[in-house]
Amino acid sequence: MSGKGSSAKGKSGQSKQRQKYQNTFAFKSDKYSTKNAEITALPVQGLCKRCLDIIQWRKRMGQYKPLTVAKKCVGCSQKTVREAYHVICNPCALQKNVCAKCQLPEEIMPSTAGKTAAELLLDRQNEERLLSLMTERQRRSYARKVERGDDEGAAKIADRIRSSSNGEDDDFDFGFSDDESDGDDIEGDEDSEDEDE
Ligand SMILES: [Zn+2]
Ligand SMILES: [Zn+2]
Repeated sequence: MSGKGSSAKGKSGQSKQRQKYQNTFAFKSDKYSTKNAEITALPVQGLCKRCLDIIQWRKRMGQYKPLTVAKKCVGCSQKTVREAYHVICNPCALQKNVCAKCQLPEEIMPSTAGKTAAELLLDRQNEERLLSLMTERQRRSYARKVERGDDEGAAKIADRIRSSSNGEDDDFDFGFSDDESDGDDIEGDEDSEDEDE
């Protein structure tokens, strides 16, 4: 390896050019499209509305990482969790009547596996409607939170938008800063990353 390295130095200009031509994005886009199709096909089940939204968002943004090995369930301590981002296995979630991700006793959304194309489209439209109700700033904040794994924070944003659009909200507070104190909503160098895309 070291011998190869030193000889490459001599004609670095040439080898660099050739590498540029051969590598990078054909490989990358191929990898992503195959992976994305597989991920889109994975059913999402046992989740409440807000967790389902986040998982769907992850899928769409290419940020969904499927589990390769079963994870330990926080309920029964067995390695029975097979779905990414779930913390509790399906039997435990059913028994406790909670969402498999946030473990709250929320209404559980039907599995996407049994859904028709029309229903999936409706889901997507609902999600897009939610996003359209967000300000650009809220959307960016939502995306960043999901990206960082702060799903709870992301869900809070979605909750606010939802409750304000339903008009059924008494303690709705558009202050938007109480739980943003970790500073990731402040316009700064992180934002420039987002805008580059
Ligand atoms: Zn369990
Ligand atoms: Zn949940």
